[in-house]
Amino acid sequence: MTARLIDGKAIAAAKRLTMKTRVSRLKSEGVVPGLAVVLVGANPASMSYVKGKIRDCKEVGIYSELIRLPESVPEKELLEKINVLNVRDEIHGILVQLPLPDQISEQKVIQAINPDKDVDGFHPVNLGKMMTNQECFVPCTPAGIIEMLKAVNISIAGKHAVIVGRSHIVGKPASQLFLNYNATVTICHSKTTPLSDYTRQADILVVAVGRAGLIGAEDVKTGAVVIDVGMNRNGKGKLVGDVVFKETSEKAGFITPVPGGVGPMTRVMLLENTLKAAERKVRDRHDDGK
Ligand code: NDP
Repeated sequence: MTARLIDGKAIAAAKRLTMKTRVSRLKSEGVVPGLAVVLVGANPASMSYVKGKIRDCKEVGIYSELIRLPESVPEKELLEKINVLNVRDEIHGILVQLPLPDQISEQKVIQAINPDKDVDGFHPVNLGKMMTNQECFVPCTPAGIIEMLKAVNISIAGKHAVIVGRSHIVGKPASQLFLNYNATVTICHSKTTPLSDYTRQADILVVAVGRAGLIGAEDVKTGAVVIDVGMNRNGKGKLVGDVVFKETSEKAGFITPVPGGVGPMTRVMLLENTLKAAERKVRDRHDDGK
């Protein structure tokens, strides 16, 4: 392997360590940062994600509250729960675990969350602010990607960032964020053809598709930074990314592993956003002279 490994697990662990100090500082101001996680139904993947998020909160000293609702819960009832969380002072961040059952509109739910507590960064107010380069909550996966590049001193300005995937939660916000950091951005998707003509031009290649083996060594430029967001199970049930790791790592300059790359960074950015929400509250209180 010639590429340098970007160790998301280690970077996230170091970030959690510094967060403990920020939590202590908040506590000395009388504020315990709080995250509410709403889980509808019992989807095993969602349950495992939620468990991880709650464990992370505990590790850094963030208060977390799990609100579990049955799969059959009417949309109205979920919206009412969100309204209650929106006005509770001890809750600084609200996360509704996606996907939601068919009877519930994801967009309605996202838009019901107070944008000041929208730690997932999916509310149109936060997405609009990101688009206009204003202070906002940035979706956790794109934010985590930027953090990991910073951690290994990779500069973004002037680079050609090629993003494969245009979902609302990863691809699109990642593209906007790279643009905010002054990269020249190309967005690819399922209708981009031939994909490798674009990926081979990337200084920084972000692959967020959900298809094992989509990108191999022949699809990347020598020395490129390759960020693999994909999470797939291979034939043996092992977690793998969208990038063929071994051969690509022999050509790339930097590469993220799966597992242990973008995943831990996504998780830690949720804590970051929750802390940011609580810190903002304290700052506003100071500004009001209280
Ligand atoms: P979506 O399914 O919402 O989006 C996938 C995107 O990939 C779409 O824009 C689609 O294009 C595009 N696409 C599909 N096939 C191709 C192809 N052959 N060539 C180029 N583009 C293609 O997925 P998500 O964005 O939610 O997630 C992507 C992956 O990242 C998944 O594996 C998911 O599990 C993982 N993930 C990992 C996270 C982490 O923390 N590590 C966090 C979130 C997601 P089109 O729009 O045209 O359909």
